[in-house]
Amino acid sequence: MTGSPGTPLVVLDHVDKWFGDLHVLQDINLSIARGEVVVVIGPSGSGKSTLCRTINRLETIDKGTITLDGEPLPAEGKALASHRAEVGMVFQSFNLFAHKTILENVTLGPTKVRGMDKGEADTKARALLERVGVANQADKYPAQLSGGQQQRVAIARALAMEPKVMLFDEPTSALDPEMIKEVLDVMVDLAEGGMTMVVVTHEMGFARTAANRVVFMAEGQIVEENTPEAFFTDPQSSRAQDFLGKIL
Ligand code: ADP
Ligand code: MG
Repeated sequence: MTGSPGTPLVVLDHVDKWFGDLHVLQDINLSIARGEVVVVIGPSGSGKSTLCRTINRLETIDKGTITLDGEPLPAEGKALASHRAEVGMVFQSFNLFAHKTILENVTLGPTKVRGMDKGEADTKARALLERVGVANQADKYPAQLSGGQQQRVAIARALAMEPKVMLFDEPTSALDPEMIKEVLDVMVDLAEGGMTMVVVTHEMGFARTAANRVVFMAEGQIVEENTPEAFFTDPQSSRAQDFLGKIL
């Protein structure tokens, strides 16, 4: 089964999660095909970040199953570490290692987790930095870069692990407006290159351009999902209509 083109890459099947009394994910069913770009939107507190975090098991689930490439998520140990290496994650706060250079930030995972030799990791990292447009920053430290540059480095760092899927949790929300586009452009390029992506974002332009599907969440549930075109022009639920009324 693993790796066969017909199977979905990520499947959440009847997933429930509670934080104490809060039923934060309620019977979530979501199947993501290879190469699909899914944009997740919804009000603050609806469970979008938690949903992302369950996919690389930064959060455990209480019911249901999650599979990646046909394999259930391992609970712990080496198997979990190798699962995590297959799921790239980019957060709102760039989370680069402050005391490592840009190049080192990108080579660390491949050398430590994948056991790649340094020369090969360097070559690959420079190519990725080139791809995200920050090749000339390789020897600097994160604090010397703009927010938009740091976020592009964070994307390069995730890509260096050759993940099967990339998760983005509000990747542009902490950026000054003039830097948002340079990050979204990199994400659009990735999407066009066939990367499987789950993107939590309020950037409706990105959703319209790059998403195959929009998933609308509210209060822990997937309320509605559709193509961006159908979702934005004709949202079905009152909650989605309400939400779009506020942000568009
Ligand atoms: P979103 O990303 O859509 O804003 P989150 O997934 O961050 O939503 O949070 C969903 C709900 O779960 C919120 O009410 C939030 O306060 C709560 N929550 C998130 N993380 C935790 C946690 N670690 N412990 C308890 N409650 C949490
Ligand atoms: Mg969130």
